Amino acid sequence: MKVAICVGHNAKYQGAISESGVTEYIFNSAIANLLCYHFRDTDYKVKQFHRPPIKSYRKQIKALAKEVNKFNPDVAIELHFNAGNSKARGHEVLYLGSSEIGLKYAKKLDDIFNSLLPNKDRGVKPIYKGGRGYRFLSEIYSPTLIAEPFFAGNLGFINENFGNILNSYIKFIQTFK
Ligand SMILES: [Zn+2]
Repeated sequence: MKVAICVGHNAKYQGAISESGVTEYIFNSAIANLLCYHFRDTDYKVKQFHRPPIKSYRKQIKALAKEVNKFNPDVAIELHFNAGNSKARGHEVLYLGSSEIGLKYAKKLDDIFNSLLPNKDRGVKPIYKGGRGYRFLSEIYSPTLIAEPFFAGNLGFINENFGNILNSYIKFIQTFK
């Protein structure tokens, strides 16, 4: 069982900034490191991938997809969080609109977020050409997901739920045998 953990954004263009000052890239790099550590010496091959620190999304994904496709995982998850104001709460999982297996996996991860995060369920969202994250979802040949477990403008959510967010991904990976 092979899982690609893809950290959203990159070291130079780090994505949304949370209320506590932590960027998407820094936060999700920490999650990716801990996931790889958690599954070391198991039958799960969990590997993290980072995009090159360049501006073009198209080129970032092209480089990333080349590496991930070489690894040929059973599933590839891109880690993000939502920006948004301090009142926003909720998680969502994006998948490639044409992929039935993507939908199945997205529901699985969304259910786990539901059970572990004190959040509103914004549900699973199909992405089609031109939509948010479409290139990531479509240029990797394996089933792909984009995870948005929370809104970063919500003060305290990261501190209170870091373990729950990490455990959501661990639980999701463990559903694969
Ligand atoms: Zn993002």
